[in-house]
Amino acid sequence: MTDHVSAVNSAVEAMDGLLDRLEKLDAITPDLRSALQRLANRSADVAGITLGEQRWDGVVLTDDEAFDSAPVPLIVTDPLGFVIRANVKMLELTETAPGTLLGMHSGDYIHSDDYDFLADIWVRMQVETDFNTAITEFRLLLPRGARWVRGAIRASRNDDLSLANLVVHFTDVDDKHAVEQALDRSSRKFGDLLDSLPDPIVRVNRAFEVQFANPAARQYRNLGRYHEWPRVTEENRAEYLEVAERCWATGESTTFEHSMLAGDDVLWCESTFVPEVGPSSKVETLLVIWRDQTTRRRHEELLAYRATHDALTGLPNRARFSDLLEVAVERQVTSAELGQKRPIAVLFLDLDRFKFVNDSLGHLAGDDLLKNVAERLTGAIRPGDVIGRLGGDEFTILAEDISREDAVMMAERILERLKEPFMINGREFISSASIGVVSSETPAGSTDLMRWADSAMYRAKGLGRSRVATYEEVLAPEVMDQLELDQMIRSAAERGELELYYQPEVLIATSEIVGVEALLRWHHPTKGLLGAERFIPVAEDNGMIVPIGAWVLRQACEQVSQWIADGLAGSEFMLRVNLSPRQMDRDGLPKVITETLEETGIRPTNLCLEITETSLMSDTEHTQVSLEDLASVGITLAVDDFGTGYSSLSSLKRFPIDVLKIDKSFISGMTKKSRDEAIVRTVITLSDTLNLTPTAEGVETEDQRALLEEMGCPRGQGFLFSRPVPADEFAELLRDGIPSAQPTQRDS
Ligand code: C2E
Ligand code: MG
Ligand code: MG
Repeated sequence: MTDHVSAVNSAVEAMDGLLDRLEKLDAITPDLRSALQRLANRSADVAGITLGEQRWDGVVLTDDEAFDSAPVPLIVTDPLGFVIRANVKMLELTETAPGTLLGMHSGDYIHSDDYDFLADIWVRMQVETDFNTAITEFRLLLPRGARWVRGAIRASRNDDLSLANLVVHFTDVDDKHAVEQALDRSSRKFGDLLDSLPDPIVRVNRAFEVQFANPAARQYRNLGRYHEWPRVTEENRAEYLEVAERCWATGESTTFEHSMLAGDDVLWCESTFVPEVGPSSKVETLLVIWRDQTTRRRHEELLAYRATHDALTGLPNRARFSDLLEVAVERQVTSAELGQKRPIAVLFLDLDRFKFVNDSLGHLAGDDLLKNVAERLTGAIRPGDVIGRLGGDEFTILAEDISREDAVMMAERILERLKEPFMINGREFISSASIGVVSSETPAGSTDLMRWADSAMYRAKGLGRSRVATYEEVLAPEVMDQLELDQMIRSAAERGELELYYQPEVLIATSEIVGVEALLRWHHPTKGLLGAERFIPVAEDNGMIVPIGAWVLRQACEQVSQWIADGLAGSEFMLRVNLSPRQMDRDGLPKVITETLEETGIRPTNLCLEITETSLMSDTEHTQVSLEDLASVGITLAVDDFGTGYSSLSSLKRFPIDVLKIDKSFISGMTKKSRDEAIVRTVITLSDTLNLTPTAEGVETEDQRALLEEMGCPRGQGFLFSRPVPADEFAELLRDGIPSAQPTQRDS
């Protein structure tokens, strides 16, 4: 008996040694920590055995001396259970002479009542390649009689995972007193070890009462009853208790991740339940080790969030939006099976001229604008609708249970909101968007819905931007021809289908015609007369605007030259021709212009090219060079639709600009909205300051005219004076003056 007490004491001493070694390590590595946890998974005396196992791994099988002098009884058997080694302590335990055990079958030393159970373990180790350790109590048949021992059996395996050896470490548990004494000592040490572990560990009994909690665990409140601790959240509680119950029933340890409440915080933790088997081979207590996984979990959540959301706006990204649309379509299918209709609408929004903002004002300004747009969109949808950002300046909206009319109304509401100026870098920007709407009552595939909404958006762009188009419009026969237009415009000039219309530019005060704007029209063979808005965007997209623009210039110059020759127009008469940004991209432009001027006999001072704010701002250096080339020829430049784009004061000064054409949207709003009126006034003042001439576009009413006159705007153009008309009608206007013009009382 004394022998056995000293055997256990030696084990405890050896464990002390291990602990000392651990303490000397200043940093506990994760591996070491998990080893400690495995250690902690066993009750105190088992920890002694684990210690033995550690040694077996590293030392025993390679180092004879260490094996022989190991302070605990050990045997090694072959895969079949025949003893191939036994150490000194083992000889002491079995009271046999050296060599006696060798070649014996271990089963010969086992009490027949315990034999089947051990044979079971042996069979499992043979077949289950991940079943490598078993700790169990059984009776050894010794010369002095049967004694209860606790055997820790460990399988070591060959590379092919077949059994190589079984190593068994014995603890004499026959002498309860001796063992318990040792237990006391070792559990004290073990307790120290648990105390220093950063992860909370508790031991609970069958009633879930906490019997032991290490300091890390004691930090948490409500330790009294285990199921109140940790306070597992509602969602996870049932499963949590189920996992714990299973552990009680099967004796197998399990790990389970769940959320729990700590004060007001929700933490994520990973609980490991380790069953502690008593001498009766029944689970008597559970060790619950848990580890705070909140940081990892948050990190994972963040990664998942990043994978599904757009970093700039925080909106669902393309992948997430498609998923949500998919789900909505499934809901629609389910409802349809129940005979219910759940119309889905997808809105596809693309900002107009966004590339320009990015290119000329920098990506930060572009990002700013996108964020602002995202905010406005959020404000314009119904609760439950989803906004996604597909990338760039493309946004999508998913709305369920919405009629086609309401979807279109939503799109229009969005357009309205986007029309309000944005403050970017302390500057006001006017932005607009084109929105395509598809609405479907009957389930359609999510990719189809996206594609349809996309083509509706293109339709909206084709119709002149800043508007809403539905997929029905795309399908409508008269617009199915976007492609056809694209094809036909390539040869429209050759077929003589293009014609210039002319709109007079007048002195606001007197309606005297002082110039003309040439505006292109297309006599389409089947669609009739098309306005510029209908086809200029197509010609710009496919590049046809370059040859067409050259034709326009020549045609207009010839015409005006004719009117001057006929004495219908004076030498100051100004011809204004619109110049597309695409034309400015061409290096040959100044040459085209000078040649045209020479060949048609128009003086450079009679020609003004209207450019957009966009072309003023894009690719600044190149633009400046070509604009300067133009100006050096002697012609003047006007900024068209001024106020709708983004030009800076500095660019107005930098470029050889003479005229600002105030966009018609401000003129039409001027008499109703004080904001528009203020803009018009500002542009007029600005023109004065910069020594530019302001011209009002789209003057339609006498009120507008009068107000412009009062504001000191010298020139104007608009339906009030005359619509754009064919050349011969314009000649009549030149001859007879503007018929409907109101003579003004005041002087200009
Ligand atoms: P824009 O240069 O601003 O031309 C003025 C537009 O306003 C013309 O439309 C004209 O018909 C319209 N308009 C004139 N007075 C009024 C009015 O009182 N009220 C309203 N509501 N509208 C008025 P149009 O002819 O359809 O041309 C549209 C745009 O197409 C032009 O805008 C111009 O940017 C472009 N465009 C026209 N012809 C050419 C061309 O030969 N070359 C190029 N590159 N673009 C052209
Ligand atoms: Mg114009
Ligand atoms: Mg204009």
